[in-house]
Amino acid sequence: MDKIIAKIDDPEMLSQIDKVVPFHGYLSTGAFIGLQMLKIACRLLDINENERIFVTCETLNCLPDPFQILRGSTIGNKGLKILDYDKMAVTINKGAEPGQSHIKGVRIFLDPAKTVKYPVFHAWYMNERKVPHEEAISELIKAGDAVYTWEFIEVPVPVKAKKDVRLCAVCGESFISKDGSDTCKGC
Ligand SMILES: [Zn+2]
Repeated sequence: MDKIIAKIDDPEMLSQIDKVVPFHGYLSTGAFIGLQMLKIACRLLDINENERIFVTCETLNCLPDPFQILRGSTIGNKGLKILDYDKMAVTINKGAEPGQSHIKGVRIFLDPAKTVKYPVFHAWYMNERKVPHEEAISELIKAGDAVYTWEFIEVPVPVKAKKDVRLCAVCGESFISKDGSDTCKGC
């Protein structure tokens, strides 16, 4: 861990690592990828420090944590959505202005056609052998943006529908009915 820290000369990233480690438990390669993706998105979309962002992570593994701890984008506040695709990819956009139906976002993914130039890291990514996090992250620090591919996309702004609250016909507890059902999903 200290060996990794010594290789990073970006003070912002160092302070981000300080916050991510206690939250995530340690600096995993996936969490570090999240940090790099966040940095790229902030640059591409001109996101400032205090601006709210909306994040869709395409994996449950590691990647979501930097966005939760550093940007306050959580599942509970709808700042974070998870698509359980087991892909190292993330889509990020800012909040929409009233009346906007779409907002510019960026989808960033860890590109195997690019990671192949960093053999140790590529071996971690493709799970060809056991690669310690320290080694994988060292390669990522060297690579910087060079292992990522991104494209700008138009993200649809979700429309707020009135909540249809009902009492479940089976358990009697209240729930929000999404499809007109009288029974909660638990029953
Ligand atoms: Zn029920």
